[in-house]
Amino acid sequence: MTDKPITRESILKDYPRMKPDERFVFECRPGVSCFTCCCQDVSIVLTPYDVLRLTRVLNMDSSDFLEKHTITGVTSEPNFPVVLLKMEGEAKRCPFVGEQGCSVYGDRPWACRMYPLGAAEPENPNPTDHAFHFLLKEDLCKGHGEGRTWTVREWIANQGVEEYDMMGASFKSLMLHPGWSKSEGIPAGKLDMVYMACYDLDRFRRFVFETKFMEYFEVDEALAEAIAMDDEELLDFAMQWLRFSLFGDRTMKVRKSVIEARRKAAESAAPSAPSAP
Ligand code: SF4
Ligand code: SF4
Repeated sequence: MTDKPITRESILKDYPRMKPDERFVFECRPGVSCFTCCCQDVSIVLTPYDVLRLTRVLNMDSSDFLEKHTITGVTSEPNFPVVLLKMEGEAKRCPFVGEQGCSVYGDRPWACRMYPLGAAEPENPNPTDHAFHFLLKEDLCKGHGEGRTWTVREWIANQGVEEYDMMGASFKSLMLHPGWSKSEGIPAGKLDMVYMACYDLDRFRRFVFETKFMEYFEVDEALAEAIAMDDEELLDFAMQWLRFSLFGDRTMKVRKSVIEARRKAAESAAPSAPSAP
């Protein structure tokens, strides 16, 4: 396979779909002639959990990490904020690659773990046309046909992808929400809110605990404690809040006092009935 641009359409049309027990032969190790070549001039989309793991291992505030190491964009249909790892210098190298390889290896992003496998999902999945894996065979990568034989399942387990998939489940379910098909997209005024909840978790935590958020929503004590202490819990909570905010799902509970105050305000704002002459 040549290094033609890989698009979603080309994957769905041209790439052989691999089953979990299908085998491939691959080895990536220091000493291979292409070692770290794949860590430059490459587009790596970061999931919310990727950002969480990288900010934590680098001991950075999420806003600082995003500013220093990412580029932000917005997808179309739906319009959704995405962040890409920012490559550096003329060679467009990943900021985390060194002579020894990846300096954040234990916390490397999902896409780096999966390589040379990819994962794709058809537009309208059904029992005969569903999510699948495929093998990327790019000219620059000399790891193919070398070393160990893997099944798709073994590679995913060996690279620690399952944990990333599990932690990314609530984000995935937001992205696949049936409400997108009826929605006109995220209003411009809400794009930053979505960006914050997905990627800028330290800012989201301040938003929850340092604004009137808790006066508006009923959050039980145990959950409040968990989201204050635990990044993974906070990320999941952020996804539940987005489902409420974007689609009106009953994933958050508005306080009765807020509902009552709103009802009264609506009543007093309603025009009174015209009086009889
Ligand atoms: S995060 Fe690590 S594996 Fe991924 S591109 Fe950067 S150096 Fe390579
Ligand atoms: S190009 Fe392939 S073999 Fe070379 S370092 Fe990257 S993944 Fe490993």
